[in-house]
Amino acid sequence: MEPMNRAAEIIWNAKRIVCFSGAGISAASGIHTYQDTLTGLWADLDPRALDSASAFRENPKLVWGWYLWRRQNASSAQPNAAHLAFPKLGSSGRIVSVITQNVDERAGSNCVLHLHGSLCTPKCFACHRPGTLPEQQMAVPVDGALVEPPRCGRCNGKLRPGVVWYGEDLPSDVWKSAIALAKSCDVLISVGTSGIVTPAADIPRLALLSGATVIHVNTEHVSTGAENELMLVGKATEVLTDLCAMLSNKVKPL
Ligand code: ZN
Repeated sequence: MEPMNRAAEIIWNAKRIVCFSGAGISAASGIHTYQDTLTGLWADLDPRALDSASAFRENPKLVWGWYLWRRQNASSAQPNAAHLAFPKLGSSGRIVSVITQNVDERAGSNCVLHLHGSLCTPKCFACHRPGTLPEQQMAVPVDGALVEPPRCGRCNGKLRPGVVWYGEDLPSDVWKSAIALAKSCDVLISVGTSGIVTPAADIPRLALLSGATVIHVNTEHVSTGAENELMLVGKATEVLTDLCAMLSNKVKPL
């Protein structure tokens, strides 16, 4: 059987589906990934040098300005066909959960676990309580890259982006929920993720070990060759749109 037909068959028969997304899915929405060359204000900066607590401590205005720019970039991008396909996979009573590694993901699924945090949830650098973004900082800074971070309403500490930086642990409650989903699903669809960055890469492995089928959707071959893995090579937007079309053309068995 063709891999696409096989994937549609497996999804059709599944009750619990997990969609696991990585940077490859954002690229189709025009959101910059680390693989892209940055332009404009950020042309001379290495994003890796901005994503750490020490960078924030050293230059809070620069790091805060960088995240405001990323937030603006992400909020002007529209969810693409791959994002929109996730909830559609849940027709005919299938339960779909989304686990994402992307801090920009906000597509129309009800249950989205942000493994690496979100651009939309700032928190205090000192006391870690959640904070809110001031109205005037919603827009991208026009006069340069440096922006003073807002202050925490409780302790007056600087607000930092609510994302997981290099060297930091994933949020433990989110991680536990992701593990539980991976262990209890019938199918995990891994979209646009290289499978190299741990511990996030453990999620598909856990699903495989727990007996689920893992369907990889990627422009490159990323399957580990396990028996219950399927590899669909292609653009996430096209592959997932085709899968949804195949599912909607299926007649529900009596
Ligand atoms: Zn605080």
